[in-house]
Amino acid sequence: MRQTEGRPSPKRELRFYGHPVSPGIGIGPIYEALEPKLSFSSKKIQAADIAAETARFEDAVSQSRKQLIKLKTKLSGLPEQSQTEISPLIDAYLHMLGNSRLIRGVRTRIGDRLLAPEAAVMEEAEAQAEAILALTGSDEEGRARRAEEVREISRRIIRNLTRLPFRSFADLAPGTILAAEFLRPADAALIQPTNFAGIITAEGGADGHTAVMLRALGLPAILGATGVLEAATPGTLAIIDGEAGEIILHPSSKSLMAAQARLAARSRNLRALARLQRAPAETTDHVAIDLQANLELPFELPMIAESGAHGIGLMRSEFIFMNREKLPDEDTQTQIYTDIVQAMDGDPVTIRVLDWGSDKEVEALADYTPDTAEANPALGLRGIRLLLRHPDLFETQLAAILRASAAGPVRVMLPMVGFQAEIIAAWEIYDRVWRRLKRRGVWVSESRPPLGIMIETPAAALAAAHLAKHAEFFAIGTNDLTMYTLAADRSLPVGSKLYDPLEPTILRLIYETGVAANNARIPVSLCGELASRPEAAPLLIGLGIRQLSMHGAAIPRVKRAIRAVSSRQCLHLAAQALAAADADTVRALLG
Ligand code: PEP
Ligand code: MG
Repeated sequence: MRQTEGRPSPKRELRFYGHPVSPGIGIGPIYEALEPKLSFSSKKIQAADIAAETARFEDAVSQSRKQLIKLKTKLSGLPEQSQTEISPLIDAYLHMLGNSRLIRGVRTRIGDRLLAPEAAVMEEAEAQAEAILALTGSDEEGRARRAEEVREISRRIIRNLTRLPFRSFADLAPGTILAAEFLRPADAALIQPTNFAGIITAEGGADGHTAVMLRALGLPAILGATGVLEAATPGTLAIIDGEAGEIILHPSSKSLMAAQARLAARSRNLRALARLQRAPAETTDHVAIDLQANLELPFELPMIAESGAHGIGLMRSEFIFMNREKLPDEDTQTQIYTDIVQAMDGDPVTIRVLDWGSDKEVEALADYTPDTAEANPALGLRGIRLLLRHPDLFETQLAAILRASAAGPVRVMLPMVGFQAEIIAAWEIYDRVWRRLKRRGVWVSESRPPLGIMIETPAAALAAAHLAKHAEFFAIGTNDLTMYTLAADRSLPVGSKLYDPLEPTILRLIYETGVAANNARIPVSLCGELASRPEAAPLLIGLGIRQLSMHGAAIPRVKRAIRAVSSRQCLHLAAQALAAADADTVRALLG
């Protein structure tokens, strides 16, 4: 974002467009969320703590080294020319993390001058950068670059010392529209929705995990909005429309009045939808559809309670593991799951075990990830594949879920299943944990909670008839199913037509999965973002789906769409869509 100093701020109204990710109108000043500023006063330590503080510093250095080695492996996926440009830089950083002047200097500042490691790194790096800049000679640019390299590596070490979250939102005033180049899912989990009027990022696609988290916050949000950060200065007044994907900077009074009118109309619409809370979700000919909620973050629970949801169809347990220094132990997890199960008051809660990997980074699991970074993390170790490699983690989570089952109905769900062997291996572990708890007399539900799987890879959808012999329920995850089937990243930027869950290929996989589940007499639901699109509900019903799980705020709108159609109309629509040649044709059918 441009800084105001010395630059005139344009008064003309400016419009930008991005991908609408979460509906609503937000009006407020824009501020950019930056990486936290690192500054440390010369904090002293006790002589008795020198060894411990030095060890903390050495840990941070080794952590930094690991990260850079991982980055270096990732570079192998880049074109050769880019590799040759970046590799020497990474090598320079790695060199500085060896027994370099920087590292020796920091050790001395800790040991002799009793400085806390954060301050020691800061001061030593600054002193070295100043010394480099003060050198004489012709290569001024080279000196500036080297000084910046020293500062950059010191920032990395300090981040690993303090384990600061990547973003800091604490300094932003309430009512702000939060802008950022990009947000990770873990950043989104730190956002307090009551503090913001809306969210904009320059990067990101509609069904990426960040988008999923932002929808859960219930704030208007637009991702992939190019140009806004460059055009705005801190505090620029803006209107964002999370349904149209429109951002207006420096709005005229006419635009402000129009936005306020839309805001009022939206509140009226929400009040009308709220009246549907108790109405049954059924077609005009009384085919009942079970509407459940997805839960990403615990503060969604009150909203879910008001949405008319019958239980939680997908609890993404990742939030429990994100933004923590240490992994949550069995007791901590048990408490979190129990609170959620109790809050649902007898309605079932489907807890998906940790789906980590790909774009869902979990810092506390850094030591668990493979030593060599994968060139294509979405195609490598992720979800159940990682959990089976780390049975200790898996068992802890299963034990906690089973203990929470004493508080109400629970189902356990496995993410990213591709092969029958994975379910069989998971069953062995699940049974073992169940028996162990029973043997110890731990209070759990009377009967073992059902174990089901996500169908989110084409392999799983195509093998659904076989997998149904081992799974007690299916949940179709169209976000990943679309990504893997169409070979198109779900976080692809706006305007990309590659990623589209309405492609008839995806619809066929949904249909076939439903048929396999019905033949095996196991329940099947759909919990990808497609479930939250009201216009898609009749199509999904026509494809045989009777249970939909979505973010709570979407339930009333989806219910209204269901109550307006007959099951015959749904069947007719699905038959046409299955025969369609492409997603545009399907979209036209949906009207
Ligand atoms: C999906 O892939 O559709 C899904 C529901 O899982 P997630 O979005 O958490 O990957
Ligand atoms: Mg998924």
